[in-house]
Amino acid sequence: MQNAIIGHHQILEQLYHAIASNRVAGAYLFVGVANVGKETVALHFAKSINCRTSDEGACDTCLSCRKADAGNHPDLQIIRPSGTWIKIDQIRELQKRIIYRPLEGVRKVYILTEAERMNLEAANCLLKTLEEPPADSVLILLTTNLDALLPTLRSRCQIIPFHPLVISELAEHLMERFNIDETQAFSIATTAGGAVGKALALVQEGGDFNEEIPEIMTASDRLDAFRIAEKWTQQPEALDHLVTWYRDLALLHQGAPADLLTHVHHAEQLKQLTAHYSRLQLQSAIKAIFETKAMLQRNVNATLALEVLALKLLRRP
Ligand SMILES: [Zn+2]
Repeated sequence: MQNAIIGHHQILEQLYHAIASNRVAGAYLFVGVANVGKETVALHFAKSINCRTSDEGACDTCLSCRKADAGNHPDLQIIRPSGTWIKIDQIRELQKRIIYRPLEGVRKVYILTEAERMNLEAANCLLKTLEEPPADSVLILLTTNLDALLPTLRSRCQIIPFHPLVISELAEHLMERFNIDETQAFSIATTAGGAVGKALALVQEGGDFNEEIPEIMTASDRLDAFRIAEKWTQQPEALDHLVTWYRDLALLHQGAPADLLTHVHHAEQLKQLTAHYSRLQLQSAIKAIFETKAMLQRNVNATLALEVLALKLLRRP
């Protein structure tokens, strides 16, 4: 089953149930971090709505499913930002089409990716459709940032939150599907922060995926700290990853066995590192990472916040 979806079972069941009981909403809003699986689930939902043979998800074999997979189902359209924004012209085009009955399927499905990239003009325009959606249409908006959408727009959608997978669950799926060993599967799942799409991309990047101990854990120089902070500004999700390493150190510091670690294959190196930290230092390191993450969500000066964090995390020489 190459197209089987990893995780999100509850969401899929909820959506299948809506199809089976003929209670599909006019508009959905899928919310979750990038690459967590929103678009995959949206496409599968669209396919399932119009599948001719199955009530329990798409069959993947009927004409409708095959057209959807090939990207040429006449009643399924994906709208992505054109450049930086989803433009008002794209919304107007949608509105022109949505008033007609489906050509082949049960409903017309429109998936709008990165809905937070709708400017005010486009959002207000879309609002008109959301206020009175044609009966045989479904809009599925995807977003990483619920707060960036107009409240009036949010309130007209059924909101479905997507959570990253538990690391061990994702690792197990990766082992089953790609024939990779446990160590590698856990590394990839951890680096991906439980986001399925990101994990799959990492698997595809190559079999020799090897994670390394984060630089900041061995750095003791202020210049290194600034360089590392600069890297973090490019990929703020590095902080989620970082915290798993400090947790491992904290575990080892308390004498926990190596098989409890997330980064089990680095146990030896980590054991050596614990000598450089006190229990208190590890606790405050973890606290500082969480505080910084919270600050970044409040739109503080990211560079400054990350520099302060890197300096705090520097190992005492
Ligand atoms: Zn089908």
